[in-house]
Amino acid sequence: MNENRFRQLPAVDKLLSHETIEPLIAEFGRSRVAHWSRRSIDLLRGELVDGILHADRSELLVRAIELIVDQACEAGLDRLSPVVNATGVLLHTNLGRAPLADRAVEAVQAAARYTNLEMDLASGERRYRGYQLESLWRELTGCEAAFVVNNCAAATLLTLQAVARGKEVVVSRGQLIEIGGSYRLPDVFQESGAVLREVGTTNRVRLSDYESAIGPETAALLRVHASNYRVVGFTASVEIDELAPLAHRHGLLAIDDIGSGSVTDLSRIGLTGEPTVGHSLAAGADLVLFSGDKLLGGPQCGVVLGKAELIARLKRSPLARAFRIDKLTLAALQATLEIHLSGRAMEEIPLLRQLSMPQDELEQRARRFAQDMVQSRCPLQLSVEKGESAVGGGSLPTATLPTWLIALKAERISAESLARRLRTGNPPVLARIQADRVLLDFRTILPGQEPLLGQALLSVL
Ligand SMILES: *Cc1c(COP(=O)(O)O)cnc(C)c1O
Repeated sequence: MNENRFRQLPAVDKLLSHETIEPLIAEFGRSRVAHWSRRSIDLLRGELVDGILHADRSELLVRAIELIVDQACEAGLDRLSPVVNATGVLLHTNLGRAPLADRAVEAVQAAARYTNLEMDLASGERRYRGYQLESLWRELTGCEAAFVVNNCAAATLLTLQAVARGKEVVVSRGQLIEIGGSYRLPDVFQESGAVLREVGTTNRVRLSDYESAIGPETAALLRVHASNYRVVGFTASVEIDELAPLAHRHGLLAIDDIGSGSVTDLSRIGLTGEPTVGHSLAAGADLVLFSGDKLLGGPQCGVVLGKAELIARLKRSPLARAFRIDKLTLAALQATLEIHLSGRAMEEIPLLRQLSMPQDELEQRARRFAQDMVQSRCPLQLSVEKGESAVGGGSLPTATLPTWLIALKAERISAESLARRLRTGNPPVLARIQADRVLLDFRTILPGQEPLLGQALLSVL
């Protein structure tokens, strides 16, 4: 082996002072980039030993720099970072569901250091986490009490464990949902220690089915909202309005897992079929469960509202501590609830704004953006057209909203490849592909994100 060849390899110090590498040091820190440099040199040394690389000193330097930049790119892509959601799916679970309102973002920042998380400022005594939200929930929904945990899956498990462990809970066979990931209702029952008592069939269940399933072991009747699917055709279901009185006649609890958790009636913007928290409580549900990051438009969390005595049992469960929310979630949720109470939800909650954004505003935004791109000599072909967006996130599974799109095409580049470039670009842009074209949906591109999107498009080729 010719030892001289190894002396042609660049030294770490030389790599670190290279003009391409210096900005990486500023971004990732010297020791991390030095680590990548050593890995690059090792890799090149290995290739020299194997005889698969024949390069002189300057070529080796170029290769080493490339390898360091590749590692930096990989580290950058693996980072949690802001993206532009141009998919048209408003509640995209993979993209963090509901975007927070400005006031909620500010509240998160303000609470990030010391805060009165479990402290009563008036008395100086310890007070339970989440007390800050109790009166907000009461004012907003008319509930007696509230408890917030990490997500709705945790809320379901906690509820079943705390109020029905060792007892039976009656559920319709048409409502034994899988949400995705490992959340399947029968498995959640298993973990909770409550016994699942199935009634009805996949497509039909009657009140009498529930009634005949009630026995000495029954603790509750549970309704679960079919959030991410619809059973259509020859169907029958029992709503909470009938289920709650039946439960109460037999001295049982009525539990309503409504999933998407709207506190606003969305039928005034043309979206029907989603249960509201207020309706469920008024219909007599003893506990109502939902996610905070779906139609409420807040941070990830699971909310349980209902009877004070039951909520107290949830709080006493050993699982309560395991499922508790942190101060950042609490801050974002408090701000979100205050916006709902102020009557300005349609203007300030991004999700509701996007849901209700009028056609002509979407068209105007799409056309203006396309014009700007042409003026900036964007190398892509752009065409503005009508399309449809989806709500997503396990709500309104069959509803689509009319929207305006920009279709992108690039010469000699497939739609998949263009979408990949956008996804790994700066900032990352998530688009959707249809009929071999890349589509950008303006309903999910947040107002004010156009300059970022422009930057991404102009540097994509
Ligand atoms: C979304 C959903 C869940 C799960 O909620 P996460 O907050 O994602 O855990 C449970 N039940 C229903 C009906 C849902 O729609």
